[in-house]
Amino acid sequence: MEANRLSELQRLDRAHHIHPFTNHKELHAEGTHVIDSGSGCWVTDASGRQLLDGLAGLWCVNVGYGRAEIADAVREQMMRLPYYCSFLNSTTEPAIRLADKLASLAPRRLGKVLFCSSGSEANETALKLIRAYQKLRGEPRKTKILSRTFSYHGVGVATTSLTGLASCTAPFDLPLSGFVHVPGPHAYEADPSMVPAMAPAAYGDWCLAETEKTIAREGAETIAALFAEPIQGAGGVIVPPPGHLRKLRDLCRHHDILFVADEVITAFGRLGDWFASSLWQLDPDLVTLAKGITSGYLPLGATLVTDDIATALDGGGYLAHGFTYSGHPVAAAAALANLAILERERLVERVRDDVGPYFQQKLQSFAGHRAVGEARGFGLIGALDLVPREGRAARSPAAPLGVLAARRAREEGVIVRGIRDLVALSPPLTISHGELDELFAAVGRALDRLWD
Ligand code: PLP
Repeated sequence: MEANRLSELQRLDRAHHIHPFTNHKELHAEGTHVIDSGSGCWVTDASGRQLLDGLAGLWCVNVGYGRAEIADAVREQMMRLPYYCSFLNSTTEPAIRLADKLASLAPRRLGKVLFCSSGSEANETALKLIRAYQKLRGEPRKTKILSRTFSYHGVGVATTSLTGLASCTAPFDLPLSGFVHVPGPHAYEADPSMVPAMAPAAYGDWCLAETEKTIAREGAETIAALFAEPIQGAGGVIVPPPGHLRKLRDLCRHHDILFVADEVITAFGRLGDWFASSLWQLDPDLVTLAKGITSGYLPLGATLVTDDIATALDGGGYLAHGFTYSGHPVAAAAALANLAILERERLVERVRDDVGPYFQQKLQSFAGHRAVGEARGFGLIGALDLVPREGRAARSPAAPLGVLAARRAREEGVIVRGIRDLVALSPPLTISHGELDELFAAVGRALDRLWD
């Protein structure tokens, strides 16, 4: 792109565009980074520079950029029927076919789906269906919702209330009442003034014990559901100790609390299975989806529920929930083409057997780096938690190392996500060994410069 056009875009962006999750003072000081095109695991910015995308957009471009097959399916559907709704008794073929496809891939019992356009809407939908369900089954007092610290569930007023990150809730005076947070299994960030240092498995058990205490304090008869991301992504790629989520699910079942797996990041191959819930036999009552369902090519979200829940909701008659774009035929066509690629190219198995283990080996090779406090991950997602030269105690929210490291990484030619003092990686499932070598070599150069 010519320099004039780029500077015009930067000027217009600065004048009119509010970016999500952005510090606008810093953005304007730095200038907008315009991304212009993408192919495979690479994006090209408006100055013509190629960058290896180690985050797959925003944890979503699972099949990589530039897939003509998805674009063709979208064009064909747009020309046939660009829009029709799924309200009342109408719908479209792509919406029906996608519902059927998801039911065939999903963990057992999850045979019914309600569509939307994002992860936030999928969780918002889950919250409303749960309230209706509890009321219909004669448990109207069951309205409170449990979720975990360091969780991220979206940006609606209710889904922000679910989110267990003060940076997301505090500016908006949330959470709303009735949203209760229990500790997430993040041993690395355990507050030493509250708990003695523990190994991850012991800390996970402590979290479960605290959750049980919270259930006793609030009263199980008032708690409708617990939401959990199998791996907490935006909160810092928190990997639960083995067996932890099964125990959490069993605790919920014991207290008649619905278990919701927020699989917005973890579904569609990222962990080497179609769903984390299948991988770890979580047998959830609801699953929420977005991102990898279309590999980000078009906005689409989905809330899966068990046949039992769907039957109970049917008993309530008219279901007054859904969006103009629920089951959007073009988004559904994109999802079907995307799922066909994942299946045909065996990308889920590829993560499990090939690139996932290679990625984790590379990630763990940083465990001994002088600037790394912890390397953690699973499948094709990981994080490096960073420490300043002066030691961990010198970390400062005003100068988060993750953001600095991500900036350095971009200078070195790769995109990673800076979160607090860590960098997160979750590349497309199509990434090659050579590209993983490049990705980690650039991250290494960025970390070597971190203490300069
Ligand atoms: N849930 C999880 C686990 C997420 O990671 C995200 C987004 O990153 C969301 C929900 C919200 O999704 P969206 O940004 O599509 O609303």
